[in-house]
Amino acid sequence: MEEIRTRLAPSPTGLLHVGNARAGIFNFLFAKKSGGKFILRIEDTDIERSKPEYEEDAKAAMRWLGLNWDEFYRQSDRKEIYSHHIKKLLENGSAYVSDVIRFKNPGRIVKFYDIIRGNIETDTKDLGDFVIAKDEKTPLYHLAAVIDDFEMKISHIIRGEDHISNTPRQILIQEALRCPTPKYAHLPLILGSDRSKLSKRHGAEALSEYKKLGYLPEAMFNFLALLGWHPEDDREIFTKEELIEQFSLERVQKGGAIFDKRKLDWISREYIKKLDGKDFIEKLKPFIPEEWRNKNLSGAARLFQDRISKLSDFTTEAKFIFELGDYDPALLIWKNASREDTKKRLEKAFELIFSSGDVVAYAKKEGMGEVLWPLRVSLSGLKNSPGPIEIMEVLGKEESLKRIRHAISKL
Ligand code: GLU
Repeated sequence: MEEIRTRLAPSPTGLLHVGNARAGIFNFLFAKKSGGKFILRIEDTDIERSKPEYEEDAKAAMRWLGLNWDEFYRQSDRKEIYSHHIKKLLENGSAYVSDVIRFKNPGRIVKFYDIIRGNIETDTKDLGDFVIAKDEKTPLYHLAAVIDDFEMKISHIIRGEDHISNTPRQILIQEALRCPTPKYAHLPLILGSDRSKLSKRHGAEALSEYKKLGYLPEAMFNFLALLGWHPEDDREIFTKEELIEQFSLERVQKGGAIFDKRKLDWISREYIKKLDGKDFIEKLKPFIPEEWRNKNLSGAARLFQDRISKLSDFTTEAKFIFELGDYDPALLIWKNASREDTKKRLEKAFELIFSSGDVVAYAKKEGMGEVLWPLRVSLSGLKNSPGPIEIMEVLGKEESLKRIRHAISKL
């Protein structure tokens, strides 16, 4: 049986985006499922637009996701190989020089079978004699890709739907070079929640943005694997190993795949919840100011671990634990309560907490909202936060009393 060999072939002309990452994941899963090889190939034939920092970004993003490649190639290192094939095409009459090098297009119907879409037929007549190289040493995208797929023995080309129209040209070149045609699978477009093609206005496209926001790579991997593929049941949380086992190209859908940010947040939350407490704290560290580390970090981490969907949420949502922000005293007042009553209740709460009495029992008697709302606001300074008892556990008695005293003084 032939060895399964797949590749991700990003052009380093911009940051690696979620579409590349999704294609990388599908190529990776498909290869690993059958014990095959996954290859990273940098397609930098466009020398004006290609930049080394984008290659670095692509590698960093793939390492972050755990998409480990078995082999690595960069097209600009392979000029000799291309030039050999270009000469062959010129010699056998499949290409000719006219300032640039053009492919002599036979202009016929090209058919291929797509694993996801079935049979596809295109008339290549209108394409004319398309340019395949600038000169004998400088192939353009179509030719370089065909030569590489052949030299690298790529068995399956798994890439975005936007490349369907490139496939007939590439097949014609394969025929002229007497290369076998690999199998094709064109993945559905990724759409925003309004069903238009995913773009900047739907939010971040670059994978590095998601890393910066503090999504866990395992969660991102899981989420991207479900963009256009789903297993036989409704399960949504999978480890990488489980995905390798379950993945199949036959279960990839034809229709556009919606990039649903709420689903990403939900998946990510599930992964954060499952982290070991110590591990969670380690992961939070790059997202918090240095001063927070010596304060109540572990208590705050415990309080927020089940409440956030990405690590950067902690920075904003748990901030009040470390630094009480300024707030409007009106926020302390529950519904129709008066200022005086609010103040009296907070004074009573202060006394009870000071003498380790039962503030909840008092609230049950006096009115839950009437007591616990101002207490919670005095501790957090916020409209929304965890409950006062939980916050006090993290803050400790002294700091809690200080904040309540401050609230009383504001009323
Ligand atoms: N370099 C192409 C791109 O970035 C990839 C083409 C392919 O996968 O064949 O879109």
